[in-house]
Amino acid sequence: HSNLDALREDDVSSLLHPFTNAVAHGQIGPDVVVRGEGARIYDDAGREYIDAMSGLWAIGLGYSEERLINAATEQLKKLPYYHTFAHKSNPAAIKLGKALLSMLPVEMSKVIYTNSGSEAVDTAIKLAWYYWNAAGEPERVKIISRKRAYHGSNVASGSATGLTVMHGGFNLPFSQILHAECPHFWRYGEKGETEEEFSQRKADELEKLILEAGPTTIAAFIAEPVMGAGGVIVPPEGYFEKIQAVLDRYGILFISDEVICGFGRTGKMFGSETFGIRPDIMTFAKQLSSAYMPIGAVTVTEELYEKIASASNTRGVFGHGYTYSGHPVACAVALEALTIYQERDVVGHVAQSGAYFQQRLREFESHPLVGEVRGVGLIAAVELVADKRSKKLFDPFGKVNGRFAKLAYERGLITRALPASDSLGLCPPLFCTKSELDEIVDKFADTLEAVTEFASRAGR
Ligand code: PMP
Repeated sequence: HSNLDALREDDVSSLLHPFTNAVAHGQIGPDVVVRGEGARIYDDAGREYIDAMSGLWAIGLGYSEERLINAATEQLKKLPYYHTFAHKSNPAAIKLGKALLSMLPVEMSKVIYTNSGSEAVDTAIKLAWYYWNAAGEPERVKIISRKRAYHGSNVASGSATGLTVMHGGFNLPFSQILHAECPHFWRYGEKGETEEEFSQRKADELEKLILEAGPTTIAAFIAEPVMGAGGVIVPPEGYFEKIQAVLDRYGILFISDEVICGFGRTGKMFGSETFGIRPDIMTFAKQLSSAYMPIGAVTVTEELYEKIASASNTRGVFGHGYTYSGHPVACAVALEALTIYQERDVVGHVAQSGAYFQQRLREFESHPLVGEVRGVGLIAAVELVADKRSKKLFDPFGKVNGRFAKLAYERGLITRALPASDSLGLCPPLFCTKSELDEIVDKFADTLEAVTEFASRAGR
C-alpha cells in the first residue's frame, strides 16, 4: 500500500520532464509553481514572477480570468465529457466551430478538434495526405517545412519541426519531410541585400527544392506566420507573397500554423492576416482556450472538405480522431475565450500596446551584447551576440541566453532561452497594462547588465 497523502510535492524521482536535462533535474529539482494571478505566477516559496512568456506563448488572458473558470465549471456540471465520433456532438463543440470559422481571415468551411498544437499539426498533415489521395494524386506525400520551425513533438509534427534538438535520438525527421531555409534576414541576409531580395532568394531556393524533389510528390508546405520557438523570426518584406506564388505554381497546399500567432498576438487576429498568407489548412491551439484547457483545432477550405468527404477509398470516413476531440469543457472554455477576445477588442489593444512594447524593446539595440531586437505586436526576441559587428554568436550558443533566463528568473522575470540561437523570447499576456510591459522591459534591462560579466567570460 502506498499512502498518497504522504507524497511530497517536490519529489522528482518519478518524473521525466519535457525539454529538461534528466540528470541535472535529479540534482537541481523542479521550480514548483503553485498559483497565478493576472500576468504573474507564484512559486512554493511565495516568490512572485511576471510571466513575459505567457507560460509557453499560451495564456493570453492571464492566470485569473473568472469568465474562463466559470465557463469550465458550468460545463463540468452539465456534461463533463462526451466524445464526437460517429455523429456525436455537443453544443459547446458546435458553437465553437461556428465562432472560430467566423473569425478567420480566409474562407474556411470545416473544423476538426484535437487536444494540442502537436496533434493539430499531425492532423493537418494527415488531412493534406488524405486530400491528395481523394483527389487522385496519391504520389503527393512530401511535406515541406522550414529549418528552425517549431510545429510540435509528435512523430509528424516533430519531423516538421526544424530544430535539431527535436530530432536527435528519435529517428526523426521521417523521410517524407523536407526542410526549406529559414527566413531570418538579419542573420542570413547577404551584404547589401534588401529584405525583398532576400525574400526572393528564399522563394527561389524553395522552388529549387520543389523541383529537385519533384513537384508532383509534394503535398503541402507548412509555416508559422512568425516562427516562435525558432527565434521569433518575423517574415521579411514580401516573403509570404513570394513563397505563396511558388506554391501556387505547383498546386502545393499551404498549412498555416497559427498555434502561437492566433488570436491577436501579432496585432491582427491571425498571423496569416498580418502577412498576407492564403492558407488551405490552419492549425490552432494555445490561445484558442487561453491555455485554460488543452485544445487544438484544424480548419480546412470547402474545396478540401468536398474532396475529403467524397473520398471513395474510405467511403468518406475520415479515420482519425481522439477520445477528447471536441471535449465539451475544453470547447466551452475556448468559446468563452474567443468571446472575450472580441468583446475586449484584442486586435485594437495589441496593435496599440504592442507598438509601445516593441518601441521600448528597441532601447536595447545599442547595447553591446544585443545583435538584433525583433518582433511584432506582443511577441518579440532579443538576439545576443559575442561580437556586434560580425554578428558572431557565443560559443557554444545557448550558453549565454540560458544564463540570462536564469538571472531574469532571479529578478522575478520569466523570459525564455530559445533553442536555435542566443535569443531570448518575450510573449506577455495580451492584456498586460503599460506598467506591466514597462516592468518587463526594465527587468530585462537589469538582467542584460547582470549577464554582461558572464558573457565576457564566455568568450567575447
Ligand atoms: N505549433 C507551434 C507554432 C508551436 O509553437 C507549438 C508549441 N510551442 C506547437 C505547434 C505544438 O503545440 P503543443 O505543445 O500544444 O503540442
